[in-house]
Amino acid sequence: MAIASSPVALVTGAGQGIGRGIARQLANDGFLVVINDVVADPAVTDKGPYEVKATIEKAGGKAGVFKADISSRSDRQAMVDYIEQTFGRFDLLVNNAGVAPKERKDILDASEESYDRLMTINAKGPYFLTQLVANKMIAHQKAGTVKTPRIAFITSISAYTSSTFRGEYCTSKAAVAMAATLWADRLGEFGIPVLQFSPGIIATPMTSVVQAKYDKMIAEGILVTRRWGQPEDLALAVAAFAKGYLDYSTGNVIEVGGGFGMKRL
Ligand code: NAP
Repeated sequence: MAIASSPVALVTGAGQGIGRGIARQLANDGFLVVINDVVADPAVTDKGPYEVKATIEKAGGKAGVFKADISSRSDRQAMVDYIEQTFGRFDLLVNNAGVAPKERKDILDASEESYDRLMTINAKGPYFLTQLVANKMIAHQKAGTVKTPRIAFITSISAYTSSTFRGEYCTSKAAVAMAATLWADRLGEFGIPVLQFSPGIIATPMTSVVQAKYDKMIAEGILVTRRWGQPEDLALAVAAFAKGYLDYSTGNVIEVGGGFGMKRL
């Protein structure tokens, strides 16, 4: 098996939004980036994963696309097998893919179907993708292919902030935040750092449906830094981790939220 000369990163849900920003930054920093998304059509090049791939390549970077639904066991396995067989190394996993409820509903009315959908994609998917990848990383470390692999989880301020009109989102993010803690703990003996990045209010397609609401809240001072977060804000934080600058902080939560979590009086 040939081993890629560049470090290899998998970014889930990287066809748009925060994942797109992270994928571009990592490619800029020398990673060969595998752009994962649930929808990926090579014929569509003006948006989605193939747009991200083209943008990276135009800037001189290296990228590939792998279509997979992270909530599907067989898709997760196929994606990890592809990376293993094609590149022979696994340096960084960024668990970014996630979904919001299709409808924001009061927890007095919200459906069990929506709860199951969010828990499966936002919590179970990254939990078991990490299990597969972590085992590969441990094997590569033993073989001497990669010295310090790393794993990032993109969680949310919703892991510790109540929003009663999307309780299933908050619950799924609290679950994946605990998954990040568990993986940091378990992988400590192998020297594999695991960090959580907790975005605040970030301008992406996910939040475009509530833009007016958040425009108002930001104008009224809910954030210390009085602007929307951008995918690049997350990308720079993850890039610092990817470079090894935060390894001794394993298990921690880095909030990228313009001071959202600061207690203020
Ligand atoms: P986004 O704009 O909706 O992008 C998410 C990407 O993930 C989309 O391309 C989506 O594809 C993909 N995806 C959805 N389900 C998937 C699956 N099962 N398998 C693989 N890919 C899948 O969201 P974002 O705002 O960039 O959010 C990225 C992450 O940050 C999420 O985990 C989100 O919960 C978290 N976050 C975001 C904010 C924010 O303010 N934006 C705040 C806190 C946390 P489709 O579009 O085709 O579904």
